[in-house]
Amino acid sequence: MTMLLIWGLRIVYRTIGQGMFFCRKCGGDRKYRLRAGRRFCTLFFIPVVPLNKTGTHVRCQTCKTRYVTEVLKLPTAAQMQAAMPAGARALVCAMLRAGDPECAVARRRAIEMAAGAGAQDYDDAALDADLAQPPAAGRPAIKTLGGQLKPEAREWYLAELIRIALADGPLTGPERVAAEAIAADLSMTLAQAVGVIMLTEQAANQG
Ligand SMILES: [Zn+2]
Repeated sequence: MTMLLIWGLRIVYRTIGQGMFFCRKCGGDRKYRLRAGRRFCTLFFIPVVPLNKTGTHVRCQTCKTRYVTEVLKLPTAAQMQAAMPAGARALVCAMLRAGDPECAVARRRAIEMAAGAGAQDYDDAALDADLAQPPAAGRPAIKTLGGQLKPEAREWYLAELIRIALADGPLTGPERVAAEAIAADLSMTLAQAVGVIMLTEQAANQG
């Protein structure tokens, strides 16, 4: 009697990581599994002989869509939402430090800008606490925000900052230098920054 051997090939996946990511297909933050595959030779449908490894991929736990692992470098919706108020707070502090952080009009505009970006209940005490942080501490938040914003939105943020700086009079040298440094952290070119600064100054002089 001869035994009929049923050989086959199958990829066996195992989970090597998990977390939350933004799934484009679902349109929201979802749980994912990072999965590594390996081809196996199967005998009677049971993997018996391990062959070569296949690439790793990310799979959405909800819709089962597979993605290349680079998808994990993109921010989740929750991270993007958190980046707005954090970035705005860092922005207004960077601008205020270069001018007069005690100027009441500038502070009010700064607080309004941070609150408008979603920093709930932002007030003078919160602003003072942020201003007490070392200046370099806010730069990652500014860079993260800049990376998420469309070019027009970056220009809008910079223009708002210039209006804060203009609250206590014309831009000073240090304020101009700070504005250009902030613009660079927002991923704007110097030419863009200079253009926004000039237009905002002109509008303020006319208003
Ligand atoms: Zn999905």
